[in-house]
This record gives sequence, structure tokens and C-alpha cells, in this order.
Amino acid sequence: MNIVLFGPPAAGKGTQAKILTKERGFIQLSTGDMLRAARSSGSELGKKVAGIMDRGDLVSDEIVIALIEEQLETNAGAPGFIFDGFPRTVEQAKALDVSLAKRDMAVDSVIRLRVDDNVLLGRVTKRFAEEGRKDDNPESFKIRLGNYNKQTAPLLPYYAEKGRLSEVDGLADIETVSKSIATVIDMQKTGRDMVKIPFWKRLFGRR
Ligand code: ADP
Repeated sequence: MNIVLFGPPAAGKGTQAKILTKERGFIQLSTGDMLRAARSSGSELGKKVAGIMDRGDLVSDEIVIALIEEQLETNAGAPGFIFDGFPRTVEQAKALDVSLAKRDMAVDSVIRLRVDDNVLLGRVTKRFAEEGRKDDNPESFKIRLGNYNKQTAPLLPYYAEKGRLSEVDGLADIETVSKSIATVIDMQKTGRDMVKIPFWKRLFGRR
């Protein structure tokens, strides 16, 4: 099962993705983490994206799509993927659909963490003080939020039309959010399994 965790910066996607990897053995694919790893390794890619990231802008679709492709290849056969911070543009969403289809997979579920901009600002301010992530300063954060609203939010109708979109309250505490996510996933999983069983077998209760 492949899940996209969706929401503005600092909505809690990374935290929830980590819980899902632990509980379900899914593989977390976070383009933000991959790009930060590239930076700390001092690679050419890292050098190329550093300024863009610190400013709060998006790196090119081409770069992140290539990173995701590479990870899908490396982790072939995984029980599921959790995409965190990807896709962030309609172009990326389309590329993801193509990549997954090539491997007989699809985005099964998009879970939106619904949050409030004021709360987000409080969270990044705290994270900036604790972790010192350069793009958590107020100016960069404003740009990140603006980019989310302009470039990423349009993905909501894209996935809603496909009937893949669910929402959970991202303002609740971490455990409550992860329970809500688990409920969504389990319901969708049951739905998918039902479809696999022909209706006459469901009707007569035989499997
Ligand atoms: P957050 O969700 O808190 O904004 P991320 O770790 O997902 O943080 O991303 C950090 C930065 O990495 C982004 O501001 C952007 O510069 C870059 N980035 C990460 N994922 C993508 C993506 N899918 N497309 C473009 N840029 C990305």
C-alpha cells in the first residue's frame, strides 16, 4: 500500500511517517531528508540545492523525481511506501503516478494533515531553536508556506478527483493523529481487499 502524507511544512508528516515505518514496515521516502543527506555528504547535488533550500524555495522537479525513482528501484518489493514531502507539484504527482504504474503500483491513499498556519509558525520557531534548521527561520518559513499554497495545495483537487483523499486533524497530539491515520489506512485496506473478493463470494460468505 502506498501512502502520500500531505500537508504544509511542519504539519507533522515526518513524525507520522516514522511511526508508520515502525508499525507497518513501510518505507519512508522523504525528499527533504534525501536532500539534507546530499548536503551533509558534500555531494555536487547537495551544493546545488543548499541555497534554494535555505531560502525556502522548491528544488527542481527533475531532481526530486530522480531521487524518488532511485529509491523505488532500491526498495523494490517493499510492503508499501510513505511519501513525505513529495509530491509537491502537479508535475511531481504525475511523474509519481507514471513511476508507480511502471511497477504495477499506484498511490492508494493520500492523507492530509489539516493544521493551522499560526500553529505551524510556533512549531518551526521551536524547531529552529532546538535543531537550527536554516530554513526554519521566519523569512524562509513564510516563503515555504507561500510555495505550499501556490504549488502544492493544487494537488488536493488532483487527488480528490481520483477518490484517494482523506483528512485527519493534524492539531491533535502525536498519538491521536497517528491513530486517526491508522483508522484511515485500515479502512482503505479493508475496502481494497473486498474488491479483490468477487461479489458472489462476498454475498454467500465463502472465500
Ligand atoms: P518541510 O516539510 O518541513 O517543509 P522538507 O524536509 O519536506 O520540509 O523540505 C525541506 C526543503 O527541501 C524544501 O523547502 C525544499 O527546498 C526541498 N524539497 C523537499 N522536497 C521537495 C520536493 N518534493 N520538491 C521540491 N523541493 C523539495
